[in-house]
Amino acid sequence: MPEIEADPAIPTLEGVVGHSWGEDVSSHAEILRYLEALVASAPDRSKLVRYGRTVEGRDLVYVAISSAGTMARLDEARAENLRLADPRSLGEGEAERLIEEAPAVAWLAYSVHGNESSSSDAALVTAYTLLADRRDETTRWLDDVIVVIDPLQNPDGRDRFVDAHRRARGAFPQSAPRATERAEPWPGGRYNHYLFDMNRDWYLQSQPETKAKVAAYLDWQPQIYVDAHEMGANNNYYFDPASDPFNPQITDRQNDWATRIGRRQAGQFDRFGFAYTTREVYDAFYPGYGSTWPMMQGGIGLLWEQSGVRGLVVDLEDETALHYHDAVRHHYVSSLATIAAAAEGRSDLLRTFFEGRQEAIERGESGETPDVFLLPGKTPNRAAELAALLVANGIEVRRLAAPVTLEGGAAVEQVAPEGAYYVPAAQPAGRLAETLLADRQEMGDDFIARQLDRKARLLGDEIYDVTAWSLPRTFGIDALRGTPVEEPDSEPIGEDGGRPGGSVEGPDRPTVGYLVPAEDEAALDALSSWLRSAYRVHVVDRPFTIDGTSFGRGTLLLRTAQNPDSLHDAVRKTAEEFGLTITAIDTSFVDEGVGLGGPNVAWVEPPKVLLAFEEPVSPFAGHTWFLFDREWSYPTTRVAAPSVAGPLDLGDYNVLILPDGSYGDESGFDADAAAKLRRWVSDGGTLILVDGALRWAIGEEIGLMPTERREVPVGPVPGEGLASDQAEGQEGEGEEDEADSEDADAPKQSPRPVPGAILRATVYDDHWVTAGLPPSVELLTQTGLIVDPLDPTEGRNLVTFDEQDEPASGFCWPDTLEAIGRSPLVLYRSIGQGHVIGFTDDPNYRALSPLTQRLFRNTVFFGPGH
Ligand SMILES: [Zn+2]
Repeated sequence: MPEIEADPAIPTLEGVVGHSWGEDVSSHAEILRYLEALVASAPDRSKLVRYGRTVEGRDLVYVAISSAGTMARLDEARAENLRLADPRSLGEGEAERLIEEAPAVAWLAYSVHGNESSSSDAALVTAYTLLADRRDETTRWLDDVIVVIDPLQNPDGRDRFVDAHRRARGAFPQSAPRATERAEPWPGGRYNHYLFDMNRDWYLQSQPETKAKVAAYLDWQPQIYVDAHEMGANNNYYFDPASDPFNPQITDRQNDWATRIGRRQAGQFDRFGFAYTTREVYDAFYPGYGSTWPMMQGGIGLLWEQSGVRGLVVDLEDETALHYHDAVRHHYVSSLATIAAAAEGRSDLLRTFFEGRQEAIERGESGETPDVFLLPGKTPNRAAELAALLVANGIEVRRLAAPVTLEGGAAVEQVAPEGAYYVPAAQPAGRLAETLLADRQEMGDDFIARQLDRKARLLGDEIYDVTAWSLPRTFGIDALRGTPVEEPDSEPIGEDGGRPGGSVEGPDRPTVGYLVPAEDEAALDALSSWLRSAYRVHVVDRPFTIDGTSFGRGTLLLRTAQNPDSLHDAVRKTAEEFGLTITAIDTSFVDEGVGLGGPNVAWVEPPKVLLAFEEPVSPFAGHTWFLFDREWSYPTTRVAAPSVAGPLDLGDYNVLILPDGSYGDESGFDADAAAKLRRWVSDGGTLILVDGALRWAIGEEIGLMPTERREVPVGPVPGEGLASDQAEGQEGEGEEDEADSEDADAPKQSPRPVPGAILRATVYDDHWVTAGLPPSVELLTQTGLIVDPLDPTEGRNLVTFDEQDEPASGFCWPDTLEAIGRSPLVLYRSIGQGHVIGFTDDPNYRALSPLTQRLFRNTVFFGPGH
C-alpha cells in the first residue's frame, strides 16, 4: 500500500502479526503487538506510552513519533508546548522563539467507535510509513512535527466487533450487506463496555477511557487533533471544513486552518481519484465530540468519516464493491496529508494556537466574557463534582475565601458567597469554560431558520446532537455571572474539587440514632454502602424540625436500636467518605413537622434490582448499568428482556427496570407479559418504565399506565418556516391552509422529539420519588414521548414540564414545545402493594444529569419499602 522507499529494518504488519495492511481487521492485541515491534525497531524516533486502561482492562496507548533530535528531548519539547499553551508563562521573546523553532504537535486518534475498524489499521500503516520511509519529504515532516498516534480509543468495543466478525467469517469473504460477518450481535461494537458513545463524552468524562484520553491530551495540548471514524457504506469520504452549526467559540482562524488541512487532503484524494465531500452532515457544535472539544482548547479539531466495510468487502448500491484495504488506504492518505499540512504550516499553526489561547485570556480581562461563580448551596458534594469535572477539562477553578460583589447586567447587586467556586474568564481555556458554563450557546439564526423551513417542508432536520449542555443547569447548581468589583480572595482547588470533609454532629453514641439530610445525593451513596453492609435505614417522607434543625423530604434515619453496635463507627466512617454532615440524636421528639415514629417514615427495604438487557432493549441501558456499578456502587442482575417477559421468576426481585427499547409482541412483551408484570407489581414490586418501555405500557392492550400520547397537526405550523414571507410564492402553502390544519379532522402525528434542550419543569413536592429535589428544576430532555397528565384518581404526575415560550437553553420545535407544556416527565401509579413509575425520557442517558439520576435512584431505593 505505501508508495515509499522502505527501510527493511522496520517491520511490516505482515512480518509481526501475519496479515498485511488492510488484509484483515486487526484486533487490539495485534495492534499492540505490532506497535511494540515497530517502536523497538526505531527507539530513537518513537516512543510507546500506555496512557490508561479500559473498563475490561485493555491498555490504551499512543505512539509519539518525531525526529531523533526531538525525541532525544521529548519531555522538554512537551513542556515547551505546554508553556505555549499558557501565554502567561512566557515572555514575548520566548513565545516568538518557540513559534519560530518548536515542533508542532499533531495528534491522530482512531476508532473511538469500536466497529469503525479501518481507521485503526490506517494508524498502523501511518506509523510504519513515518518510521520506514527514507524519502526526504517524510523525514522532513518529522523535523517539524511530533506526531502522536492513538491507534484505538475504544479497545473493548473493537474486540467485541473483531470477535463477532471473525466468528462469522468463512473461507470466502462475504460482500452481501446483510452477511452475518458484518451483523453485530447486540450491543454491537460501537460503544465501550458500559455502552457509552465516547465521541459524546469529552467534557462529561464519564468513562475511564475518556478520562485517561483527556488527561493525556492536556499533558500535550496538541495543535491538531484528528478523530477518524466510519459511517454507512454508501457514502464518500468526509473531511473538514465542517457543516454548520459551528460552536460560537470556534474562531475564524481555526476554521481557516481546518479548511487549509482539508485542501491538503483534497489534493491527495484528487490525485488518486478518491471521491469525497466537505461541509455536509457533520457539524461542529456540541463540545462532547472529539473534533469540537479540541477547538475549545485552541487546537484544530478535525473529523474524518470513511464509508464502513465492517468486514473485508461490501457491495454498494451503485453496484461497485468497497474493500477493506481501500477504506484503510483512504484514512492513511488523509493521515499523511494532515501531517504534511502541519509540517508545511508549522509556525503559523503554533501562532494560531498561542494567540487563540492568549485571546481567550484577553476576552476575560476585558470583561467581554463574565466570570462564573458556582454556588454549592445544599448540594456541596454535587458542586464539588462539577468543579472537579471542570478541572479535569483543563479549566482553572478557584474557591472564594471571602464574599465578593459582582458588577454585571443584574438589576440587583449580586454577591458571590464565601465557598463559591470561581471560574475566572481570563484563562487560556476560557472558551471551553464559556461553552460549558454559559446559559446557552447559539446555533445561529440562519441555521435555525433553515431547520424550521425544512420542517415546514416535512424534511428531516440537520441537528446532529443535543442543542444544550449548560453544566450549571444539568447539574442543578446555581451560577452567578459578572465581574468582581475587586480581585477576589480565592485559592485554587485540587482534583477532588474541594469536597466537604464530613462530620457527625451531636452526641457520641446517640440513643435514638442518626439523621442524614438528603438534598445532596452523596446521602444516597452512603445509603448504598449501608445497605450493602446490611444496616437498617429508614427514610422520612416529609419535612420536620428537631432540636432547632430543619430537615427536608427524604432525610435518612438510622436507628440505634435496630442496628448492631458497629453502627456508630460505620456512620462516622461513611460521613467522612462521602462528605456528609450527619446529626446524632438522643430524642425523636420533633419541634415541628412529622414524627419520626409516625406513618411518614418508611423502611428502606434493600432493593434487589433486575435490569432488562439485550434485544429489544436499547444499548443505552448500559448507562444505567454503569451508574449502578461505578457511581452508586450497588449490584444489579441483568437478564435478557424476553426472559423477563416470559419464564423468569420475578419473585427474587423487588425492582424491575425496563430501559428504553422497542418492546412488543415480537419480543414476548404481549398482554400475557403485561399481566405477569401487573401481578408482580400488585405483590409489592417496583416497576420502572423508561421511554420506549413506557410507550409500550400505555398501549390500550397493555394498559399499565393510563395515559395517551399527545399529537400535533401534520404539516406546516404557523410561525415556522414556510409560514413566513418565503411561503407566499409556494402553491398551496399559504397561511389559510395552515389555519385549516388546526381542524379537528386534520391528520395528526407525534411531535418531533425535543432536539436535546433544557426545559423548565415543576416538581410535585409530596412524594418519595421526588425527595431531595427543589420545587422547580431545569432538565435536559430529548424526549419524543409526550403524554397527557394522569388523572388524579389514577396516579400522580411527579415532574411536569412547564408551559414555556422558549427553552431555558437550546432549541425546540415550536409545536413540540407547545405540546410538552403541562405534560409529565415522571408518572406514578400504584397497583396493589406495588408501584409503576414511568419516565418519558431516559434519566440516566450519558450519565449527564445528577437531577434526573436522582429521581431514578429514589424510585429504586425507596420503592420497595413504600
Ligand atoms: Zn464514528
